[in-house]
Formats: sequence, structure tokens, C-alpha cells
Amino acid sequence: MITSKSVKQLSDLLNKKEISAVEIANAYIDRINKHNKTINAYITVNPEKLLINASESDKRRANGNELSEFDGIPIAIKDNICTKGLKTSCASKILGDFVPPYNATVIEKLEQKGLLVLGKLNMDEFAMGSTNETSCYGPVKNPHNIEHVPGGSSGGSAAAVAAHMAPAALGSDTGGSIRQPASFCGVTGMKPTYGRVSRYGLVAFASSLDQIGPLARNIDDAALLTSIISGKDTRDSTSVDPGNEISETIVARDIKTVRIGVPEEYFEGVSDETKHALSKKINELDSTGAQIVPISLKMTEYAVPAYYLIATAEASSNLARYDGVKYGRRSENASTLDELYKLSRSEGFGAEVKRRIILGTYSLSSGYYDAYYLKALKTRTCIINDFKRAFDKVDIIAAPVVPTTAFRLGENVSNPLEMYLSDILTISANLAAIPSISIPIAKDSKGLPIGMQLMGTHFDEKTVFEVGKAIEKDITPLTVNLD
Ligand code: GLN
Repeated sequence: MITSKSVKQLSDLLNKKEISAVEIANAYIDRINKHNKTINAYITVNPEKLLINASESDKRRANGNELSEFDGIPIAIKDNICTKGLKTSCASKILGDFVPPYNATVIEKLEQKGLLVLGKLNMDEFAMGSTNETSCYGPVKNPHNIEHVPGGSSGGSAAAVAAHMAPAALGSDTGGSIRQPASFCGVTGMKPTYGRVSRYGLVAFASSLDQIGPLARNIDDAALLTSIISGKDTRDSTSVDPGNEISETIVARDIKTVRIGVPEEYFEGVSDETKHALSKKINELDSTGAQIVPISLKMTEYAVPAYYLIATAEASSNLARYDGVKYGRRSENASTLDELYKLSRSEGFGAEVKRRIILGTYSLSSGYYDAYYLKALKTRTCIINDFKRAFDKVDIIAAPVVPTTAFRLGENVSNPLEMYLSDILTISANLAAIPSISIPIAKDSKGLPIGMQLMGTHFDEKTVFEVGKAIEKDITPLTVNLD
């Protein structure tokens, strides 16, 4: 089946001329038509435009002018990444039917290689959430069990890849939003080092934490996409050229040469099944010759409060631009300018977004700034130092991604604090700006996927991918049965 192929497999078939880009596009359009009603992964698909782009790609290849080996492969995009001429909603009523007049840099980079935009994916509103239930388009369902959430905020991205409704997708990760849904849906999700990928055209949530990355079927595809989208960009001053590029082809690392740190704090409060799956994998690595090093990341318990102060403070400032005047939706019930701002924001933002704007505004206000925001920044430095000390001793850190497998739909909606606490294992990597991946390693007794997190030091995506590939080769892919 075309839709069960990875990006690299599709590329082989295209280059051998055994398949056309139009056939691939049609296969995905059919699959989305069949399953999106249940899974709700896509907000927008434009099949006509996709087919035109696919047929242009076929012409390029027929003439020997293909833009790369990957010309004609469709990639699905989280709906907070701007796509020229295609609605970008952030799953928020306040953006309404906003259509960006420009492409994000990552979209330009995909298109320079001939990859096509397959459609726009559902997410938590403004990427705030861990379950996809804050979307104004309704929740995405986990393809492994539709009574469970796919995780968030890139839940549409993870579910689309798991359900074979996209060969791969782009998501964004501010506090775990690529890795946590990847773990819940049994796919591979990579958050690159902060600065590796330009965020120009990514709708900002928390600018010192946001990073774009891929969700894919395997390490090879995740590395390929990271390599395509990365690079310094003059339009994002936080992007850098670290002096090492990510290779499109990954060779599995000889595990005997790797020192793997296992932080004891990352196993506290973790469910027995997740703990068991991780320990089993780590023991296997030990017996194949890896050097397993117990480490301590003492500041872990402060990561949730620090993150929820920093992220909400930045969000309160970033989201000030949605005033009903510049973008999207404008209240029709206002008679003065003040009312226009107030009503547009009250009607346009959902409850979780409002909660965060209020929390962020509070912690930035005079009298509270020093006690909350500034303290959170200092805590962040301590978390960075925790990792620095750890990476003096180890090459990579292995840990669970989330304390449990996917929650049931509705389980955490009315308890935001419970939801925030479940981010404990992913947010430190964002605070420390290091690369981190989630790879699927097992299923629990209910058939829900369990992921393993691998964190590397700054700009050492190479080690993360190479060790990931060594681990992946012994794992049977976690399949979904929707048909
Ligand atoms: N779940 C986290 C939050 O709600 C992370 C979100 C993200 O990474 N975009 O903030």
C-alpha cells in the first residue's frame, strides 16, 4: 500500500519511476477522506491544489529536472506554521479563516526540494495543551484507540503519521508538543536544538522555547526532514549555523561506544508499565555493551513551575497582537474601540489560552515579576547547569517521554494542573534548549504506545539520531489497525 511507505521508500519508488507523485497524492486524499471523520487529524486539505502540484512534480521528473530525490512527496503541516494561500488557524476561533500571505521558512525549504504541502493539521489552540482537546475544531483521536487522546499539542501531526494519513509531518515543540504526541501515537518525533531550525512563519507561543521539528515513521525520515528544514535564516535572529549539518543518511552507532545517562528523577511518578518498558530497553542496551551511567538531574522537580511561568509570560506578550483588528476574527458586538479589543479576545480565545494569558500577565506585572518570572529564569539556568554537568559524563540521556500512556478523552480537561504536571519529562529539554527525540519502543497492556526519550547535548542531533537508529533496529513497528 502506498500510504504505508516511509518518505525514503516513496522516494525510491518515484526515482525508479514505479509510482508517480499524482498516485501518491491520490492515495493520501483517499485515505484522508476515509479516516479523517474519525481521527479528525486534518483541519484543511486542498486536494485540487495538491494534485496540480503533484502533476507539476511528475513533469519535472519526466524531464529530468526534479528538484531533489524527494520531489513530489507530500508532507502534512501543523496548523501553526504559515502556508501561503492556505488557511492557518492555530485551531483558534480568533484566527478564523486567516490565510497567510507568505510561507514559513520551513515550508520554503520543503518546497525548494520539491516536497508538497499535504494539508494542515489539528492541534491544541495556539499549541497550548497536552491532549488536543483545546482545539476549536474538536479533539483528534488516537489511532491506536479512538477513546484516547493523541497527545498534544501536535496531536494532529502524530495521529496523521500513525494512521498513515501522511508519510510524515511537521510539528512544533515548546514543552514537549512533538515528543509527547509521538510517544502517545507510536511514531518518531524530534525536537531539534533551539536555533537549529528557523521559526520564521511559526505562530509564536513562547519564543525562547518554540522549535519546529518532524514527526515521522522512523529515524531515517525524521533525520531527513530535520536536515531539510534546518539552517540559519536571516529572518529569525535566533537561528544559528552551529558549524555541523545534519546528514540525510544516518548510520546506527555502535552501541558499545556510547555512554548512556539514566536520570533517576525521570522514573519518579512514572507508571509501572512505562517504567518496565524503559528498564527492559535499558537493560538490553547494557547487555549489548553500552555503558549505562546512573545520573541525577536534581532540578527536574522545578521544571514544571519554571516552564509554566516562562511560557505563559511569553505567551501573554506574543498573543497581545490578536486584537480583532490585525488578523482573523473581529467581534460584531462592539461599539467602541475598547470594546472591540475586549470582545474580540473574549469571544475568540478558548479557556486554556485565556488562563495562560492571565497567568503570564500576572507574573510579569510589577510587584510579582521578581517573585515569579525572575525566579523562573534563575531556575531555568539551574536546569541548564544540571544538563551541562550530566553531559560531562555521558553522550546521551535516555528516559521516558511521559509518565503514562495516552489519557482517555476528557480525563484531564477539567483539571489543568494535572495536565501541566504530565509535561514533567519533556519540558526540561526545552528550557535547556537541547535536542530530544521520542522513539516508539513498546505497547502497554491496553495496546497503547510507549516512547523512549533520547536527549543530546546542544547541536549534537547526530548522536541522538545514530543512537536512536541503533535502538530502533531491534523494535517491531507499532502498527495501527483502522481498516
Ligand atoms: N503541553 C505543553 C503546554 O501545554 C507543551 C506545549 C507545546 O510544546 N507546544 O504548554
